[in-house]
Amino acid sequence: AIIKSEPQSDVRLPALQTKDEFSDLTEVFNDMMDRMQKFIIQQQQFVEDVSHELRTPVAIIEGHLKLLTRWGKDDPEILEESLEASLQEITRMKSLVQEMLDLSRVEQVEFQHKNDVSQAQEVTHQTFNNFKILYEDFTFILDDDLPHELKVGIYRNHFEQLLIIILDNAVKYSQDRKEIHMSVSSNQAELEIAIQDYGEGISEEEVGQIFNRFYRVDKARSRHKGGNGLGLSIAKELVESYGGRIYVESAIGVGTIFRIFLPIKKEPTGQM
Ligand code: ADP
Repeated sequence: AIIKSEPQSDVRLPALQTKDEFSDLTEVFNDMMDRMQKFIIQQQQFVEDVSHELRTPVAIIEGHLKLLTRWGKDDPEILEESLEASLQEITRMKSLVQEMLDLSRVEQVEFQHKNDVSQAQEVTHQTFNNFKILYEDFTFILDDDLPHELKVGIYRNHFEQLLIIILDNAVKYSQDRKEIHMSVSSNQAELEIAIQDYGEGISEEEVGQIFNRFYRVDKARSRHKGGNGLGLSIAKELVESYGGRIYVESAIGVGTIFRIFLPIKKEPTGQM
């Protein structure tokens, strides 16, 4: 059972009237307590969301197993159907667990990979070409305006993972017009990657929520396509942990553009 804790005021020190070192310390302490409590509440919410997400596949597998033990095992058709459905749910749980691991690892980025760099052109081209090979029925168009040697401050695997999440969604939520554009460009400070599809789009009311953990515009539909609603929250946390930004522009029935900005890493010139 999850014990819910509400923000407590009794862990804060009473504000002091005096303006001295002691009152400064009190403020620092209270600020720390507020942040810690916020963190605890977020973690509790996460555990609650995860449990909720795991309940459905577990219930489905349980239902099938009960059916099989009662009489289903004697009917070859039911047996096959139930086994297949159970396997599908297990695959879903595996990907959910993997995505949760990814999320918790993002939180360690700052410590492990904060000085890593990747070659922008190589990573963007390679990932894009992999999609081209994987989805032959799609048209992929790449505009590239990058200096060949440009480097960005992000660990290569994370850079790839980020592009894969956005490109995967572009494919997943495309409809009749199977076309995906990616453009990569840069200024002095940032690399910009824009990934555009011409698919179903997202309404104005929902577009603000898609980066939230477990948020899906159409739960049943996304579930059917193998989605857990964690991809974009992983993407956002990754980008932000490297000091970048991610935005979305979308219109229902027209399509969606994701824009990712990542800080450029300058080569040290060796001059003082
Ligand atoms: P999911 O695993 O469901 O795809 P994400 O976190 O990657 O989870 O995305 C959250 C939701 O945002 C999706 O369920 C979908 O409704 C919406 N979404 C994401 N990308 C697109 C896109 N390119 N076009 C339309 N809707 C999208």
